[in-house]
Amino acid sequence: SDVGAHRRLPSRHRFFADLSQCLFDFVIELLPTSEEMAVKENVRKLLERLIRTIEPDSRLLSFGSTANGFSLRNSDMDLCCLIDSEERLSATDLVTMLGDLLERETKFHVKPLPHARIPIVKLSLDPSPGLPLGIACDIGFENRLALENTRLLMCYAMIDPTRVRTMVLFLKVWSKRRKINSPYKGTLSSYGYVLLVIYFLVHVKNPPVLPNLQQMPPLRPITKEDTHLAGYNTWFFDDIELLRTRWHSENNESVAELLIDFYRYYARDFSYNTGVASIRAGLLKKSSKGWQNDLTSRYHDSRERNRLCIEDPFELDFNVGRCVTKDGIYTIRGEFMRASRILSNRPERAVVALAELCL
Ligand code: ATP
Ligand code: MG
Repeated sequence: SDVGAHRRLPSRHRFFADLSQCLFDFVIELLPTSEEMAVKENVRKLLERLIRTIEPDSRLLSFGSTANGFSLRNSDMDLCCLIDSEERLSATDLVTMLGDLLERETKFHVKPLPHARIPIVKLSLDPSPGLPLGIACDIGFENRLALENTRLLMCYAMIDPTRVRTMVLFLKVWSKRRKINSPYKGTLSSYGYVLLVIYFLVHVKNPPVLPNLQQMPPLRPITKEDTHLAGYNTWFFDDIELLRTRWHSENNESVAELLIDFYRYYARDFSYNTGVASIRAGLLKKSSKGWQNDLTSRYHDSRERNRLCIEDPFELDFNVGRCVTKDGIYTIRGEFMRASRILSNRPERAVVALAELCL
């Protein structure tokens, strides 16, 4: 009977508590082990030593997930080489020379891409007993903006580690399992998904779960020289210790409630046709950025470019979602709808719902 069916549904409250617990348990299993992190740090040091034989004044720094707190087991390493001297080789020459050196001196498979838009050296190591899944690594040069956006994401993760990290890590696994995390195939990068989560927690949730670090008043006067990089303003409030004492979110929703709401928002409410998600400035208009899909254009390319618009936090003229195609956005949005449907049915067992979600 209806009454019986009603009784079988767990209460909202119990379902959210169960699902939140399942999400924590699920994500914890997928974190990199301390051995993996130690191996990666050793690889970084080894590569840094080798690069210094070519450019003595260089440093090799980690960015992306290995440095921002959103890393999953066996995720690849993003490394950036900074050179502190005035006279230096071009990125193209460095990539070629470093490629040769690594080929001679290490066991890595080496693939230099000196003529790519951003020249990089791609490295990989085959699985071995100590490294059962091998390792993949990209080395780029002078990508200082990437180091800064990594630091920004890390600061957001540190403000509310439990809720932010759990949501982001779960969405990364989910998007990989559902095959919607491949910019080369017309879907969205991990970086793009992280920006969607932060946008949602800063600008959609009311009260917000996170403050807007780029719009907080600075503690002391700042000059343009301190804060600008390659012509872009990279300032943000980064004193997280201080922030923890000064900023408390009024929003007490559980991870489960936030995740369900995240899926619903991107399934139904976000204005894909006209809107731009900006973690810096909230919801913007495509027209105000010159990012409307130009359906009359002769160029196939510009028609595809701005289906999903996510403003980079610092490079404001750069759409992080520019790789997402018409098919890609259709698939991604379909996945948001599917996830939203599975979770809002409030199935009897949260763990079953999660398994179905990532099937
Ligand atoms: P994964 O664990 O899936 O590799 P990740 O956190 O390393 O995730 P990536 O998408 O690989 O995320 O991006 C790594 C870093 O590269 C980002 O932190 C960002 O600094 C930079 N990056 C990646 N994609 C873009 C992009 N489209 N625009 C600007 N920067 C990007
Ligand atoms: Mg990465």
